[in-house]
Amino acid sequence: MAIQLKKPDQIEKLYASGQIVREVLDWLGEIIAPGMTTEYLDAEAERLCQARGAKCLFKGVPGRGKAGPFPGNICASLNEEVVHGIPSKREVRDGDILSVDFGVELDGWCGDAARTFTVGTVDAEVQRLVDVTRHSLDIAIQLAAPGGKWSQVAEAMADYVRGEGFSVVEEFVGHGIGREMHEDPKVPNFLSPELKMRDIPLRPGLVIAVEPMVNMGTPRVRVLDDGWTIATADGKPSAHWEHTLAITQDGVRVLTA
Ligand code: MG
Repeated sequence: MAIQLKKPDQIEKLYASGQIVREVLDWLGEIIAPGMTTEYLDAEAERLCQARGAKCLFKGVPGRGKAGPFPGNICASLNEEVVHGIPSKREVRDGDILSVDFGVELDGWCGDAARTFTVGTVDAEVQRLVDVTRHSLDIAIQLAAPGGKWSQVAEAMADYVRGEGFSVVEEFVGHGIGREMHEDPKVPNFLSPELKMRDIPLRPGLVIAVEPMVNMGTPRVRVLDDGWTIATADGKPSAHWEHTLAITQDGVRVLTA
């Protein structure tokens, strides 16, 4: 495992990519409405990304096993879907939640973020799931400081989520990011056995995509027949929030906010 720390000028480039991701997610959040297809949201993300001269990163990512390359520009995961949902002609409806993950490359540097959007009026407990997931990411932003260790942050995130009566997905974790979308280290949202053995020191120049996935019921997940979509094992809803963060001398900089 080799963590590549980024220099200040490289962090500026990552910020530029991150701002395109932010802008696209802002736009999707503005337009999403009952009756809209996830394919339409995908097309809008691609259009805006290209207008900014950036490359959408998710399309063509090789699949595991029999799954072909990922066909979308965004991941669009609806309700009980956790991550890696494929954009389609499916329409979002009043009361749905839709997790949208999006990544771009600009000038050789990557940005990656995700948000769970609520469509119309959602059930109060589903809204709480979305809010708790988002707040667990806020906790990471508040606690990640130069000189600290990721294990302390991860444990605080998971303790908060579990204290709210929800569960943390453990099969999927965050990641380092830079010239590649996925770099070392792996960044769990809970205190994993690997993290106990080998912690991640929060050094200035560390750039990580932190992405808590929180389930209302069981933390267990399954892969749907399309080979890509990850859904909760019990069919209960799941939420996902992600930011790309840089540790600097002064603290934490959120590159996708
Ligand atoms: Mg990511």
